[in-house]
Amino acid sequence: MDNLEKLDKEYILNTYSRDYTHFVYGNGSRIYTNNNIEYIDFTSGIGVNSLGHNNKKLINAINTQASKLIHLSNLFLIESQVKLAKKMVDLSLYKMKVFFCNSGLEANECAIKIARKYGKNSSRFKIITLKNSFHGRSIATLKACGQDKMHKHFSPFPDGFLYASNVSEAIKIAKNDKEVVGILLELIQGEGGVYAIPKDSILELEQFCRQNDVLLMIDEVQSGIYRSGEFLASNLYNISPDVISIAKGLAGGIPIGATMTNKVDIFSPSDHGSTFGGNPLSTSAAICVLDTLESYKKSNKLKENIDIFNDKLEYIANKYDFIKEVSGIGFMRGLKIINDETLSKIINKARDNHLLLLKSGNSTLRFLPAINITKDEIYEGFYRLSKALDSLK
Ligand SMILES: *Cc1c(COP(=O)(O)O)cnc(C)c1O
Repeated sequence: MDNLEKLDKEYILNTYSRDYTHFVYGNGSRIYTNNNIEYIDFTSGIGVNSLGHNNKKLINAINTQASKLIHLSNLFLIESQVKLAKKMVDLSLYKMKVFFCNSGLEANECAIKIARKYGKNSSRFKIITLKNSFHGRSIATLKACGQDKMHKHFSPFPDGFLYASNVSEAIKIAKNDKEVVGILLELIQGEGGVYAIPKDSILELEQFCRQNDVLLMIDEVQSGIYRSGEFLASNLYNISPDVISIAKGLAGGIPIGATMTNKVDIFSPSDHGSTFGGNPLSTSAAICVLDTLESYKKSNKLKENIDIFNDKLEYIANKYDFIKEVSGIGFMRGLKIINDETLSKIINKARDNHLLLLKSGNSTLRFLPAINITKDEIYEGFYRLSKALDSLK
């Protein structure tokens, strides 16, 4: 065991099943260990490094801003925050305003507060979420996760969360419970097995929400920022949510979260806030990420590469018996594996072949590459995956 691993175990609280491969630098979708061994990265830091590693434009944006102001309190006007909010609203095509924070759970916390305040006048406060959903790890957002295992150790939790097995059950519950103010869901469940909810049922849900003044709240923490192929998965599904939470890929690795809502007058000063949220550094980084990815999408390269990635996944799924099906959308993809044991073996074999992959629920092998991953990196990654899978046959 090297010294760092020992220190990690001695000083860091035990919240992750950590892999001790020691990565020290990266370039695009390639990442290198302290011994200079190159890996292909199909994880992008769990959907965070949307421009890959060591992106020169992003580094330049961060350096330029850092040499002016890293942080400025929200008591003052923050130029890059305003510009980023306008950019996000323009790209989304929705009429919304934005609140900035630092993470996905904070974005959902704000979404929950918006729903609670919105429901006050009509005495509504309950939020329905879906089984296998993931919304964060604070006390409130843990309660919002539709997974029993997340509710084991940390009670008492706040009231007001109901769980539905699927969208039609959510509609049924909301019809019969006059205290329901919102339905919060991921269009493509990330942690819960890379499951894309069928478009029909989402359109039905949107119609129900419109007719009954129930808030349609979409957690786009993972599916947002071009991961689906569109700016937001909500754009792809062609819906107009009332509340959208965003985080992971927005600033390419600088911590940031954002909540967008069409309830533009919901808050007054002191209703909500954040010390770090929307500071000059993170919002300047995010502007660079969005500018870069916007033109990348316009060039049609995003679609081309998503199609190549998809073909590779389909090919692999057909070739190996222990793979049941391909799931997900865009660059948020999964392969359903026959069981958890085989899934773990695949991930380990892939790592032996210098390819990084993720696990998701429901025995799913998960792919979250950088949005700007190149064709070369895709081919090389799948070549390494094939070698790993061949060794399991
Ligand atoms: C990652 C994730 C979160 C939590 O984000 P943090 O930044 O870890 O708090 C919430 N919702 C979804 C859909 C996520 O994928």
